[in-house]
Amino acid sequence: MTPRRKTHQINVGGVLIGGDAPVAIQSMTSTYTYEIDKTVEQIRNLAEAGCDVVRVAVPKKEDTDALPAILEQSPIPIVADVHYHFERALEAIDAGIHKIRLNPGNIKDRKQVDRVIAACKDHGTPIRVGVNEGSVVERQDKDLRAAQQQQLSENPRERLVQLMIHTLEDYLRIFDENDFRDVCLSLKSIDPTIVIDAYRAASERFDLPLHLGLTHAGPPETGRIRSIASLGTLLAEGIGDTVRISYAADPVYEVEDAKELLCSLGLRNRVEPELIACPTCGRIEIDLIQLVADVRQKLATIKTPVKVAVMGCVVNGPGEAEGADVAIFAGKGRGIIYVQGEQTRTVTEAEMMDALYEECLDFAARVERGEVELSNAAVNIAPPDPLPRSDGSIPLTVVKN
Ligand code: SF4
Repeated sequence: MTPRRKTHQINVGGVLIGGDAPVAIQSMTSTYTYEIDKTVEQIRNLAEAGCDVVRVAVPKKEDTDALPAILEQSPIPIVADVHYHFERALEAIDAGIHKIRLNPGNIKDRKQVDRVIAACKDHGTPIRVGVNEGSVVERQDKDLRAAQQQQLSENPRERLVQLMIHTLEDYLRIFDENDFRDVCLSLKSIDPTIVIDAYRAASERFDLPLHLGLTHAGPPETGRIRSIASLGTLLAEGIGDTVRISYAADPVYEVEDAKELLCSLGLRNRVEPELIACPTCGRIEIDLIQLVADVRQKLATIKTPVKVAVMGCVVNGPGEAEGADVAIFAGKGRGIIYVQGEQTRTVTEAEMMDALYEECLDFAARVERGEVELSNAAVNIAPPDPLPRSDGSIPLTVVKN
């Protein structure tokens, strides 16, 4: 892991972005913002899942009219996503929004941008300048569009990244001339490799905080890989101050995956259990996949970052489960449970789920009472005696409860 790149820090309604602040998780509501109750409910669900900052669309006046009521009820800061109509930005700022997102591709008029910046200065509201692959090519000036398209046809990837950077440079000149530095940047594309190149280029060129995102990733099943490949690469290189994963699904999935990405890279401490599970192989003798799914569901009720391992056998399981606070090694009809390296119980297949959950609950309670510490480092697990095989060929020695 490359150390985090130092950037200028901005404050979004109390959430710090950039500098030495932790990487913030963002998402966006999928409701019509003017439907206040539905929007607030979704914001609450996102906050509960771990979202730090949420963005809402404000295409119409009725959306910005709804902002005061939404802001009053929201547990997290809100960003207004403004396209085409600079008036929406002014209305949102008046309503007390915590940040504005402007797209240089569709709010270009200098006087309009000046007015938004002036209002943001008055209210202490930061701005995200977000260029998107889809709107970076000129649409109105036909000659300029033709010239840009000609350049793009020669070397599409490189030229597109250059065009994104140049667009930001031109737009940021307006901010410089207004002496306004409360800015973060994004350069989104649907192509993970362009996202990586664009953010790498931006991190060399600007010291402003970067909002990472791969746009229009698709449903979680396919978008997950594209998003993690690009955002994970950048974060591992120390690039990125806030992330938004975007799926065609309930936005709670975006937050869950962003959180897992940051925890996996050591950029966030876990606050919930971590589940390790064997991938299963020809040695398996129980329905481990179902057991893992059930354990995962049960663990969602525990709010302590206990490390739990569910292993299918005693061959590789103990080595792979090292560091787990609570582990089960399953075999034909039986499972052995370990708590921080100590063998505690031997249970039947039917008892596995409940017994493992009980051990996890008990361990989490002891952590909360300060009686025991989370492993955080390797816990040595000595291999248990082999469990019985279906043909009885391997001797069984089990611990008596
Ligand atoms: S833990 Fe055992 S069953 Fe699971 S993948 Fe490893 S060797 Fe196979």
